[in-house]
Amino acid sequence: MQIIKIEVGDLLELKKPHPCGEKIFKVLRVGSDVRIVCQSCGRDLTLDRIKLEKAIKKIVKSDQ
Ligand SMILES: [Zn+2]
Repeated sequence: MQIIKIEVGDLLELKKPHPCGEKIFKVLRVGSDVRIVCQSCGRDLTLDRIKLEKAIKKIVKSDQ
C-alpha cells in the first residue's frame, strides 16, 4: 500500500470535484483530520485523513 504524505501548502487534486467544479484544494492543516481550502471558491473543509487519502488523485508538492 502506498503511503501518502500530505503537508501544509500542498495542492491536492481530488477525484471528486467540489460543488463549484474545482478539483484543486490547498492543505491548511494536517492532523488526524486535514483541513483543505478550495482553490476556486475559497471555502474550506475538514476531512478525515483516511477518507481524504482515498479521495486524492494527485498531489502537487509546494516548493516551500
Ligand atoms: Zn469550491
